[in-house]
Amino acid sequence: MTRNAQSTNILENILPLIEGDVQFDAPMAPLTWFRVGGPADALVRPRNLDDLVNLIKGKPAGLPVTVLGVGSNLLVRDDGIEGVVVRLGKAFGGITFEESDRVRVGAAALDTAVARAALAESIGGLEFLRGIPGTIGGALRMNAGAYGKEIKDVLIEATAIDSAGAPVTLNRDDMGFAYRYSSAPDDLIFVEALLQGGADDAADIEKRMNEVTGSRESSQPIRSRTGGSTFKNPDPSRSGGKRAWELIDEAGCRGLTIGQAQVSDLHCNFLINLGSANASALESLGETVRRRVKENSGVALEWEIRRVGREALDE
Ligand SMILES: Cc1cc2nc3c(=O)[nH]c(=O)nc-3n(C[C@H](O)[C@H](O)[C@H](O)COP(=O)(O)OP(=O)(O)OC[C@H]3O[C@@H](n4cnc5c(N)ncnc54)[C@H](O)[C@@H]3O)c2cc1C
Repeated sequence: MTRNAQSTNILENILPLIEGDVQFDAPMAPLTWFRVGGPADALVRPRNLDDLVNLIKGKPAGLPVTVLGVGSNLLVRDDGIEGVVVRLGKAFGGITFEESDRVRVGAAALDTAVARAALAESIGGLEFLRGIPGTIGGALRMNAGAYGKEIKDVLIEATAIDSAGAPVTLNRDDMGFAYRYSSAPDDLIFVEALLQGGADDAADIEKRMNEVTGSRESSQPIRSRTGGSTFKNPDPSRSGGKRAWELIDEAGCRGLTIGQAQVSDLHCNFLINLGSANASALESLGETVRRRVKENSGVALEWEIRRVGREALDE
């Protein structure tokens, strides 16, 4: 049996479990910022929390599950993603305000929408989210942050579904946050977070938010097909205090191009798909940058972008 026939057999078992939308052989490229990558064996958009739980509880053992936010930190490989990709939709996008300036947000809520909603309620402390083009689920997984603040600084607790379909509540310590990292088990699907803001003057919040937006516009290629920062900033003790972009610049990689994949001229820790790059070209370019930086400075850069999907088979 071919790989596709085998997975189709397995995947058909999930159909009766789901009320939401199920798409087989679903294109992933349109769902990511890079606009590259092969199809998922199946893409599931659960209708609500019960639907998600039914999927996880009822799916065949061993069927891989990958969660997708809005794909702003993701490189999907050209051979596509094995198993089920879960994309949380509207039912997981709520933003509600609770007492003591707390905000309850669904994992599919956009960070920017949370920042704007907080502004409308004169709740400060969440302005940094205005600069991150992902979802709350992605922010929890990546400990997303900008302008001196990370999600860990405002998180009270996160709610997730584990691989048995059971709800799990994690407080900040349970999340094991570090720089662009959480040690929370990889198989958790975050569904909600409770964030702490603080009462503030709306005009002041708006001013800070505009500073965040303005600074991003001038320093990042935010209208390009990109995945944000490609590599994590190394520990300053290993890099002499230099950030990833400085090491990349010093290694002569600013503007480096392989086919349609390019190291951004504007911010050289961003890779760009100039139009028709595939995932393999972008990944090779990233690996070339890593090699050159290692040769030039001795520092091994670590990917921040999540690379998912089948590794290309050797010819
Ligand atoms: C122009 C640009 C600028 C950026 N600037 C910043 C920045 O300033 N700071 C910053 O931190 N990041 C930045 N990023 C990166 C990115 O926006 C963040 O990492 C964001 O948090 C990713 O969210 P997402 O919804 O797009 O997740 P995706 O890219 O879809 O997924 C990222 C990871 O999170 C996991 N994930 C997503 N949702 C869930 C969920 N519900 N449950 C469990 N796991 C989940 C995925 O499986 C994957 O491993 C930038 C990206 C771009 C394109």
